[in-house]
Amino acid sequence: MSGEEPSTRQATFNSQLATSNSVCHICGERADAGNSTVCNNCHRSFHLRLRNDAEGRDCGEVWINEQYLSLEFACFECLGVRPPAGQLAAEPPVGGGH
Ligand SMILES: [Zn+2]
Ligand SMILES: [Zn+2]
Repeated sequence: MSGEEPSTRQATFNSQLATSNSVCHICGERADAGNSTVCNNCHRSFHLRLRNDAEGRDCGEVWINEQYLSLEFACFECLGVRPPAGQLAAEPPVGGGH
């Protein structure tokens, strides 16, 4: 059986089709409702894989607010994290306390 082919679809932007789709403000690419969410801090859309088995990129993080038992969404900008780029220098993880 042939496995899943890597997604090599070329991005085709149809500027003529003005839709209500939002744009990820982190990477600037279109973000659909299925692969993005809204930052709880800046209320702007960013990419987030809503399912672990789904393909997509993460331009932010999601975690569970244990106090309110709700999901918290935050984009990389609000988290102070650089968006994933093609060439990233190996930076040491931000750790503290020793
Ligand atoms: Zn993005
Ligand atoms: Zn944000």
